[in-house]
Amino acid sequence: MICDVCKSREAVVYQPHTGRRLCKECFIEDIRQRVKKEAEKQGLLKASKILLAVSGGKDSLTLADTLASFIDPKRLVAFNIVEGISGYNRKEQAEKLRKYLDDLGIELISTSFKDSVGYTLDEMVSSARAKGLNISACTFCGGFRRKLINDAGRQVKADLVATGHNLDDEAQTVIINILRGDVKRLVRLGDVPLKLSDKFVLRVKPLRKIYEWETTMYAFLKGFEFQEVECPYISARPTLRAKVRELLYLIEQQKPGSLLRIVEEFDKISELVRQHSPKEELPTCKICGEPTSYGREICKNCELMIQSGLLPQKYLRIS
Ligand code: SF4
Ligand code: ZN
Ligand code: ZN
Repeated sequence: MICDVCKSREAVVYQPHTGRRLCKECFIEDIRQRVKKEAEKQGLLKASKILLAVSGGKDSLTLADTLASFIDPKRLVAFNIVEGISGYNRKEQAEKLRKYLDDLGIELISTSFKDSVGYTLDEMVSSARAKGLNISACTFCGGFRRKLINDAGRQVKADLVATGHNLDDEAQTVIINILRGDVKRLVRLGDVPLKLSDKFVLRVKPLRKIYEWETTMYAFLKGFEFQEVECPYISARPTLRAKVRELLYLIEQQKPGSLLRIVEEFDKISELVRQHSPKEELPTCKICGEPTSYGREICKNCELMIQSGLLPQKYLRIS
């Protein structure tokens, strides 16, 4: 079968949402062009420094490789976090990640939960369990990762932080926030980043219009050996996301292009809602001084640490 774009090379990929068969070169070019289009809207082409949050998984390798194809790699700094999950954070994987980024000319900086927060993720989880609390590993993990990524962004004076969230993640997030009726969070999504605190480095998702299967295929065709070991805590992931994921997968199968349409239509709605809603600055946590959600006095991270006995109880007096 011949590629529908160049009409000369052998096709290796079928892209259901466009109905095209593409060769390796045309597929890679298609992904890069779509990422570039999104990156332009998000301000990446004008940014002088961008921090890339990388895990070593397929999405982060695709993110680094596509961005480096149209942005000077000297303007990119990759940031990796070792959560401290036994059996998951592997040395060989970290070395591979360093090599790929070296080849692309992208500097890599890293930290760990242990060095930055004082505890590994495993220690946080067992401490919470010892207190009889049912706090999932992902709750600790997501919150502290966000904090450390923001700290690193400020440290390297990045204009933007880019994460590897793909179209499937983004469509799930849109639906989850609609189901929860969380309008403020919904407005924060959208294709153009929204600054709600001077302490937040703006976060962008250049892969938000790229299907998950496409990021996997891109990494595969580029020959990247990516982290395939599943996190042992994956089964503790929020069940609503798992259900929405399953549902969207079925819809996409029956009607290819559905996820893309959900996110594109949502972007239009988000733009309209933003025009009519006042931009409220986020409050600041009374313990760590970081921005927190509306209506909170202490941030979720500090609250989790107090509940798990990892921060002195005296902080609890805040009311
Ligand atoms: Fe962290 Fe949960 Fe992802 Fe594991 S599955 S890396 S604990 S967010
Ligand atoms: Zn081709
Ligand atoms: Zn805090």
